[in-house]
Amino acid sequence: MTYLAGEYDVIVIGAGHAGCEAALAAARLGCRTLLLTISLDAVALMPCNPAIGGPAKGHLVREIDALGGQMAKNIDRTRIQIRMLNTAKGPAVHALRAQADKRLYQWEMRRTLENTPNLHLRQAMVERILARGGKVRGVVTRTGARYRADRVVITTGTYLRGRIIIGSLHYRSGPSGQPASVRLSSSLQQLGLKMMRFKTGTPARIHRDSIDFSKTVEQPGDAENYAFSFEGEPEHREQVSCWLTHTTEETHSIILANLHRSPLYSGDIEGVGPRYCPSIEDKVVRFRDRPAHQIFLEPEGRHTAEYYIQGLSTSMPEDVQVAMIHSVPGLEKAQILRPGYAIEYDCLDPLQLKSTLETMAVEGLYCAGQINGTSGYEEAAAQGIVAGINAALSLQGKEPLIIDRSTAYIGVLIDDLVTKGTAEPYRMMTSRAEYRLLLRQDNADMRLTPLGHRVGLIGAERYRRFLSKKQEIEEELERLGAKSITASDRVNAYLAAKSSPPISGSVRADQLLRRHELHYDDILALLGETRRVSAAAAQQVEIQIKYAGYILKQEQQIEKYKKMEEKLLPEDFPYRQLKGISREAAEKLAAVKPRSLGQASRISGVSPADIAVLHLYLEQKRRRGETANV
Ligand SMILES: Cc1cc2nc3c(=O)[nH]c(=O)nc-3n(C[C@H](O)[C@H](O)[C@H](O)COP(=O)(O)OP(=O)(O)OC[C@H]3O[C@@H](n4cnc5c(N)ncnc54)[C@H](O)[C@@H]3O)c2cc1C
Repeated sequence: MTYLAGEYDVIVIGAGHAGCEAALAAARLGCRTLLLTISLDAVALMPCNPAIGGPAKGHLVREIDALGGQMAKNIDRTRIQIRMLNTAKGPAVHALRAQADKRLYQWEMRRTLENTPNLHLRQAMVERILARGGKVRGVVTRTGARYRADRVVITTGTYLRGRIIIGSLHYRSGPSGQPASVRLSSSLQQLGLKMMRFKTGTPARIHRDSIDFSKTVEQPGDAENYAFSFEGEPEHREQVSCWLTHTTEETHSIILANLHRSPLYSGDIEGVGPRYCPSIEDKVVRFRDRPAHQIFLEPEGRHTAEYYIQGLSTSMPEDVQVAMIHSVPGLEKAQILRPGYAIEYDCLDPLQLKSTLETMAVEGLYCAGQINGTSGYEEAAAQGIVAGINAALSLQGKEPLIIDRSTAYIGVLIDDLVTKGTAEPYRMMTSRAEYRLLLRQDNADMRLTPLGHRVGLIGAERYRRFLSKKQEIEEELERLGAKSITASDRVNAYLAAKSSPPISGSVRADQLLRRHELHYDDILALLGETRRVSAAAAQQVEIQIKYAGYILKQEQQIEKYKKMEEKLLPEDFPYRQLKGISREAAEKLAAVKPRSLGQASRISGVSPADIAVLHLYLEQKRRRGETANV
């Protein structure tokens, strides 16, 4: 028996990292939004590592901020340590990584949700999706409440038919002791959606006072007060360090001696795990020649003694976990607060989604986050904001937001999922982005804030600030291009002090800045000037000048790529009737329904020969005036 408990524009299921972004986006775009979640005390829960960011993940966080999302601000307000990684390498892989105070992170996100107009937060377990005539109509909860809405976003993470595994012990549960979501999977299958079974794992947590830090190496934060958000610097707060140690031969022999008791190797675990986030068992077996694996001890917060053992994710029986941990230098007397475990869960095959993250099977039904086969807070939040925006835009009859893979890591993420699918938890990496020199973490606002403004998430005042920064950069690039530095004793003495060769005659300021050893402030000093643009603008000017050649080459590659992206394909294209392409290609194309010839060329199993046939067919139709665009 159900009762009508309310009518909304958009319903979001799950207040995890994807759900929070989706609900905030929809509510901020003016939709009456209901956010239903199993427990209000688990809003924005971080069941795994207490960190946000890192290579490629840090890029996603800055892109979410540039679009008008929340994660960047939330971590800037609750972080206990921040570092810029890969500074010895090129700017394409520079990445911010912050240690979060997990509890503060949750409270801060909940405070934002509770204070957002149009957003209604409610504790409930959704068990059924209502649909009629191929269109979503609402949801039903375990208590029989029926909520009506024409747009529903599912962001249920690792909870669908969650199963915890520790050695031979396994039981139905969500992560961190949360209840599993048992019934929703079958409701999705009844709607014709294909589910997969994935798994992920987490390490044990130990008590700070049981760690012998003298046997570890301190990993302090950076002195620079970095921020993920483009919206200003967080206040200075004392940073908390992480600590580096490593496994030993003894750790490895304990694991190898007990491999028969590992659910990974006994076959107890069916779900497919993340290749790029392996358990310690996997690492020891796969890299047998390695004498040691790095372990980072990460504080879970400022007000707790709990430490996360990064690098020791495991589902080994508890007694084996104790022996493993006690074999690590510094952890000989470690007191375990929570054992490590693996969790298996249902997720959706993302090939069933459009680039808007709407399902092809049910109109108005969107999916975001781990349910789409990804792994990671940042990957989830990136999908959440896109799904929330598109649920709102489609309700308002506006053009959807489809982010291109040449514009952002968010575009790479979603395009990979809906075009190639994934056979294991998908984690974002810089190597996945072919245009990564342009998709840097430092210029996410230049790439995405205009889009955030177009959809309505970036307000006028923020957009005005963005435009003035953009103008500042363009004018300074022009100015340095028109300025020359003339050789003199002062100039060459300055260059010598920077181990930079002397100049003769006069050299354009921007040309001089291309020298590796010189930076923006050096050029100003040589010009006898003081800084006149913001630090963020100066950084852009320096990067754009120093990497001008590479950037131009990548822009030319993107132009070529865009030509194929602009060759649009109708959603109802009769691939199975098209002569000259392979049966496999026809099946794959019919399943994925690519938007363009470019997307079609990225589908695995579709060959360049198939694309050539498709292109020719479209060209003939265009010549016969049957299609506008080829
Ligand atoms: C044990 C473990 C280890 C992990 N290890 C890693 C790792 O090493 N690296 C990494 O990058 N990521 C890891 N993750 C993944 C990371 O936690 C997730 O990627 C991230 O939390 C996914 O965010 P999400 O928003 O998709 O889902 P979640 O954060 O899981 O949130 C889902 C939300 O949906 C709610 N919900 C679920 N079902 C229902 C329902 N029927 N009705 C109402 N509400 C519902 C839940 O209460 C929860 O609030 C791990 C996760 C777990 C659990």
